[in-house]
Amino acid sequence: MEEPDDMSHTLTVLWTIEPQAAPRPWLACSRCRGARPFECSGKTRLNANGRRLDAWLIYRCADCDDTWNRPIFERQYVRDIAPDTLDALQNNDPGWIRRVSFDVEDLRRSTDRIEEFADCHVTRRVVAPPRDVCTHLEIVLEVPLAVSMRADRLLSAELGLSRNRLVRLEEAGRLTLLSGSRKALQRPIRDGLRVALDLSDEGDRGEIADRAGGILQPA
Ligand SMILES: [Zn+2]
Repeated sequence: MEEPDDMSHTLTVLWTIEPQAAPRPWLACSRCRGARPFECSGKTRLNANGRRLDAWLIYRCADCDDTWNRPIFERQYVRDIAPDTLDALQNNDPGWIRRVSFDVEDLRRSTDRIEEFADCHVTRRVVAPPRDVCTHLEIVLEVPLAVSMRADRLLSAELGLSRNRLVRLEEAGRLTLLSGSRKALQRPIRDGLRVALDLSDEGDRGEIADRAGGILQPA
């Protein structure tokens, strides 16, 4: 094994992972008379009851357009609401609404049946190129919105490596996921996850590094 802190052979890249479609809650639609997927309309509703406020994110049935109001908060005093939350609600702030629409944990308060989509868009940026021949790869993941994609699926698709090969590299101690949790390869990716790959013994390391850095598109 080479010195792990020898950065001169390491290509460090930042991958920003953005999911493409927000999770869809499945709810009983009274008009369709059955469970249907509901989609975020991109609009909020704010309602005043005296000095208290209710806020919802509006969803629509994918089949008939009937609405469902997803509670954001109920009966809250204005002074207890974070000013930027209130501002976002009053202005239908698209960035804020997008974040809430991807907050699957909060959505689980309303329903257990949630359809999640794994498709993500990956933007790659080289943070530090190797000064010498590239034999090591460090990938830092930036995941601003919750995604359900597993680490092995992402790495397999983006680096052009089979999942079996990833497992073999991990077993050989040449693939490390610095996340603090066991079996991180099989878990959904999280913001700040770092992936370290030792490619010294891989004949196609040049192509793998080019894919990691975005020079080569994944196969
Ligand atoms: Zn419906």
